[in-house]
Amino acid sequence: MNCTKCKTKAVIKIPRHHAAFCKVSFTNFVHDQVTRAIKSEKMFGRGDRILVAVSGGKDSLALWDILLKLGYKADGFYVNLGIGGYSERSYSMVRKFAEAVAPLGPALHTHTVEQEEGAGIKELAHMVHRPTCSTCGTIKRYQFNRAAVERDYDVMATGHNLDDEAARLLGNVLHWQEDYLEKQGPTLPASVEGFAKKVRPLYRLSERELAAYCVLNKIEYIIDECPMAQGARTLLYKEVLNRLETESPGTKQYFYWGFLEKQRRKQSSSDAMSEKDQTLLRRCGTCGQPTTSEVCSYCKLMARARREVAG
Ligand code: SF4
Ligand code: ZN
Repeated sequence: MNCTKCKTKAVIKIPRHHAAFCKVSFTNFVHDQVTRAIKSEKMFGRGDRILVAVSGGKDSLALWDILLKLGYKADGFYVNLGIGGYSERSYSMVRKFAEAVAPLGPALHTHTVEQEEGAGIKELAHMVHRPTCSTCGTIKRYQFNRAAVERDYDVMATGHNLDDEAARLLGNVLHWQEDYLEKQGPTLPASVEGFAKKVRPLYRLSERELAAYCVLNKIEYIIDECPMAQGARTLLYKEVLNRLETESPGTKQYFYWGFLEKQRRKQSSSDAMSEKDQTLLRRCGTCGQPTTSEVCSYCKLMARARREVAG
């Protein structure tokens, strides 16, 4: 098997593109896919300051690496969830990467849930009688947005890949979550003041391709999934999509990119959403961040946790 580009020995096959690449051509292919994503979805420009949400996993560290290599100004933001050995290992991966790139300028910001919210994510979820992942989602969304806005970043980038987006789309379609479908895209505009622009520059790359990128470019990452992810619906959707992909390479790409194409044709979704958000969103009465109700879900969650502690 030879590289489609340079005809030397290939190290990876990409069936959905009918291609095979050597290390250099594969790295160029990955960079090219991210460049295309940034341009076609109007994510950010050369002068923008980007805050990358890093978890220690392959996707977010690959994203940080790719953006830096493409010459963008990107810093990292890590939320330490306080999930025992998992959080310790993931934080050490993030720190290792951050220390290696620090001489080039990028900074790493950290938010520690145990310190700021008063308890680790599992304890917090237990206190508010909510599933761990939904509590985690509320806190991460809130803190990501806050970090980007307060630290004056132009955009917040996350490492969601093609597999994540296709699985999420499948879940939204299966349950006809129309509101979520409307908002599912690689770029969420900064529709109102206090609401950071959010982008997903890896939506053109699969999980397997990002793992290969890390291995070939010697980026160390935490291989284990978060222990709380066990049994999550998304994992089942990913499994189903992987079976379809094996039978028919390109399925995930046709499914998700096809959806984006339809969305684009239907309307300029970001403009429509921006207008819709402006009418729906107001300032949280407690913290001032944008929300659709009087008090945002983070402040409600924290108030409930405080009530539990007070007894
Ligand atoms: Fe948070 Fe759940 Fe994801 Fe773990 S699996 S990082 S608890 S959302
Ligand atoms: Zn609030």
